[in-house]
Amino acid sequence: MRILISGGRVIDPASDTDHIADVVVDAGRIVSVTRQDSVPVSGFDRIIDASGCWVVPGLVDMHVHFRDPGQEYKEDIFTGCESAAAGGFTTVCCMPNTMPVIDTPDKVRYVLEKAENACGVRVLQSAAITVGQRGKELTDFASLKKAGAAAVSEDGHSVADIKLMREALRTAAGLGIPVLDHTEQPELRDAGSVHRGAAAGLTGIPGIPEQAEEAIAIRDMLLAQETGGAVHLQHISTSGSLDLIRFAKKRGINVTAETAPHYFTLTDEDIIAGGGNKEIYHRCLSPKGVTVDTHRKMNPPLRSSADRQAVIEALMDGTLDAIATDHAPHSAEEKSRDFLKAPFGVIGLETSFAVSKTVLVDENGMTPSRLIELMSVKPAEILGCGGGTLAPGCRADIAVLDPDKEWTVPASGFRSKAENTAFAGMNVCGAVVMTIAGGRVIFEN
Ligand SMILES: [Zn+2]
Repeated sequence: MRILISGGRVIDPASDTDHIADVVVDAGRIVSVTRQDSVPVSGFDRIIDASGCWVVPGLVDMHVHFRDPGQEYKEDIFTGCESAAAGGFTTVCCMPNTMPVIDTPDKVRYVLEKAENACGVRVLQSAAITVGQRGKELTDFASLKKAGAAAVSEDGHSVADIKLMREALRTAAGLGIPVLDHTEQPELRDAGSVHRGAAAGLTGIPGIPEQAEEAIAIRDMLLAQETGGAVHLQHISTSGSLDLIRFAKKRGINVTAETAPHYFTLTDEDIIAGGGNKEIYHRCLSPKGVTVDTHRKMNPPLRSSADRQAVIEALMDGTLDAIATDHAPHSAEEKSRDFLKAPFGVIGLETSFAVSKTVLVDENGMTPSRLIELMSVKPAEILGCGGGTLAPGCRADIAVLDPDKEWTVPASGFRSKAENTAFAGMNVCGAVVMTIAGGRVIFEN
């Protein structure tokens, strides 16, 4: 299949490219990126007119939950991949907190083999750090890596035992396998369900202090320093964590960090009806009788507006390295429970580009190139999985994005099985036109 993507704004931060160009794809690979109209328009199976669009390396989401095996009523590998493709993603990394937990080579192979029959999105799987995620003994990192695990993670919670976490970082460093770290001190979160701040006071919902995240963030960065290993901090949400990451990076500690679109778009007050400027779609009553929205319940929680601002600054100045969605599908029944009983988590694959482009580029002046770095180049680099570039010879993973398309995020009708979006009703500017994976069109709008 020979494809010409003609006349788009090619943004490839890895090669410092940002200009109008033609991209030629053949046999699953990028052949060339050349000045517009320099390619003779013949012998192509398909010519895509990309004028007015951005042509970028396929997006990479290093933090998704596809709920497979065990909770396929929420999502499965096939629908998760469809959802990813519709979001411009060509690579995703699944978290291991499925049922059962991904903690053996067989379970890693189950996911990777099933993913081969999905729509073409490249699925990476992270394996659990401890057996059953019970925090008692390490899994066998070497054989998990051999079976194809791309990383290890205890996502869902942290490894509470400091000596075990130290051993995990040391072992992972020896094998060159990334450690993706959910940073949360469980005793500090306790029964909390929202940020400990204004909204917790108004609603009577127990709060989660920032220190729950920050205590483990600094612990694990110091462990990375002490072991000479590397650590990647997941879903960072507080300004305190960002100061700690700056401190660690200045000290030369090998740390990278991600945040998710909801942390730079919404605040804790958006869980309340009438809070912020957004509509509420999923109503229930809080302990103090305030109407709240379970579609804005996730862990870590939406933080204060000062935290939101700090996250935006950290994405700009390089303190944060990546945007990940933490795509966490749940059924309508689960999310219609009382706020305290509803599970944590929101979906995000199909809104990530639009929301990020709107908030970061349009409202805060980020360059499109920096956005693509955060959504493709850096996550690919942290995972060491290849991709994140349009360099000739590379696998043709490409997203064609319309930066000017305005739309309103709906409350339903996603390719994901789930509808628990935090962004329903939000007006956004930016849409995915086409996703190409391995030289094949896997999504088209
Ligand atoms: Zn997590």
